[in-house]
Amino acid sequence: MMKRRHDPRKIKGKLCYSVAQLAALLNVHKNTIRGWLRNDGLAVALIDQTPPFMMHGKATKKWLKERQDKRGWTCAENEMSCFSCKGPRQIKPGSFHILPSNTQKIIAQGDCIKCGRTLNRFDVAANKDKLIRQFKANV
Ligand SMILES: [Zn+2]
Repeated sequence: MMKRRHDPRKIKGKLCYSVAQLAALLNVHKNTIRGWLRNDGLAVALIDQTPPFMMHGKATKKWLKERQDKRGWTCAENEMSCFSCKGPRQIKPGSFHILPSNTQKIIAQGDCIKCGRTLNRFDVAANKDKLIRQFKANV
């Protein structure tokens, strides 16, 4: 089955959306949105990490657009997605770090080796050591 594409232009940057509102807008099930929040990095758009979950329109739109750009490329273990020069990229040596988080979600960052943009890789805290090994980071 083809994965469905969703139109990021439906999302208004100045509005905030609940899970139900976003699901209705994109014509998907609420559980799809919850899955995106849990596993696919949409959590970056959350206004607050506690229920009721509301998402910033602008961040949601950006996330959705990037997610769709990313289709068709696969990151190796030591790569992150770069949406500036569009592709999986290694990061500059020494640039790897993990942002502080008080949830089970973590965001690893590093600078694109090609264009220098800060790249994000979303993961769960349990994978922290694995990520550090994969990116050969000294943190
Ligand atoms: Zn780049």
